Amino acid sequence: MDEKIATLLRQLNPKNTKTNEPLSGYTNLKIGGPADILYIAHDIKDLINVVSLAKRMDIPVTVLGRGTNILISDDGIRGLVVINKANTINIAGEKPVSEDAIPIIPRWESDSQKGTFKYEFKDLDYDETGEARVEVIIDSGVDLPFALRYLLDKNITGLQWYAGIPGTIGGAIYNNIHGGTHFLSEVVKKVKILDKDLHTRELDIKELGADYDKSRFHNSGEVILQGTFNLYRGDVEKAKFTAREWAERKKIQPRNSPGCCFANLTQEQKEKFEYPTTAMGYVIEHVFKMTGFKIGDAAVSKAHHNFIVNEGKATARDYLAVMKEIYKRTKETLDIEIVPEIMLLGFKDEEIKEFTKKEQEELRKVRNEEIRTVYK
Ligand SMILES: Cc1cc2nc3c(=O)[nH]c(=O)nc-3n(C[C@H](O)[C@H](O)[C@H](O)COP(=O)(O)OP(=O)(O)OC[C@H]3O[C@@H](n4cnc5c(N)ncnc54)[C@H](O)[C@@H]3O)c2cc1C
Repeated sequence: MDEKIATLLRQLNPKNTKTNEPLSGYTNLKIGGPADILYIAHDIKDLINVVSLAKRMDIPVTVLGRGTNILISDDGIRGLVVINKANTINIAGEKPVSEDAIPIIPRWESDSQKGTFKYEFKDLDYDETGEARVEVIIDSGVDLPFALRYLLDKNITGLQWYAGIPGTIGGAIYNNIHGGTHFLSEVVKKVKILDKDLHTRELDIKELGADYDKSRFHNSGEVILQGTFNLYRGDVEKAKFTAREWAERKKIQPRNSPGCCFANLTQEQKEKFEYPTTAMGYVIEHVFKMTGFKIGDAAVSKAHHNFIVNEGKATARDYLAVMKEIYKRTKETLDIEIVPEIMLLGFKDEEIKEFTKKEQEELRKVRNEEIRTVYK
């Protein structure tokens, strides 16, 4: 065993620590090789301590939530992997309507024709930004579905749009998740972080670089510790109905997946090819006719073609091969560089070179800009 890893190991509580632990058990996909050290952090202090210890020794650190948005390599992840289970919710109190609340940035209109996006949401949408505000501080390791239920029981609304989305508050902030026409950044006020110099500090919403499936945390190496949310004393029954209904409609999305695999097309691309929708699932199903396509046990889902699922014993290699086949067909047929929406962890650069191109970053920017301008 590497000397540094052995030294770190001696300093950790053995009850929370495992060595050479397969990461497949910590992900939705049930795919992933071992972590040198896996540590379960049960509170924020513990999370800060373990990350700081490892970083001071120059050991790479990866913080995971519930592993619902990741594909981990068959070789696993070197260094320390922390599973974040910090789980406190603190209702700080009633607040006047905040000056900081950022305006709603709708995602896109749901299709008028049923069967293209496969789920509709526009009819559920409403605006509660006029309601009284409540400040709630939530640890990054809290499960989002739990936070939603817990807060609705306390008559606090604002998270109903994210019903049916698995994962933690930390993962949700990391990717600025979207639900229906809403983005989490609408209700985030501040985020407490552990920065690269191992200091804790608070970032204001405007410093988060929050965008569609994006935030500063994708490149910053910072650890998300807590989010301060500006939620509402809104209509609880309406919010409960919305959450139930939205979760029901999302049930067609397969759980044995890391969520939607590729970003949708831009408006310009949709118009150029005269497709009825920007949905990448449409392209995979109707243009490439990949229903039933699989490599090993990694398969294009029949329920939603932009989801790649593990039907049993899929490896990361199988999964990546399916992604690359979709990439190849899109490149050859449409001359488009598609952008993955899932995080690829533990891979060597050359293994994922198709998905780390500059043009993809550019396309992402175009798409984000469109979301703001076309659907305002
Ligand atoms: C069936 C299904 C439906 C989904 N629907 C949606 C949807 O409607 N909208 C949507 O936006 N997403 C959706 N997702 C994607 C996914 O659920 C979210 O992105 C989720 O928020 C990820 O949270 P997690 O805790 O599982 O993160 P993980 O998968 O564990 O991690 C994801 C990334 O976040 C980083 N990370 C996690 N916690 C921290 C932290 N505390 N500090 C720093 N970095 C951290 C990890 O290092 C990793 O890079 C869906 C997924 C599935 C499987």
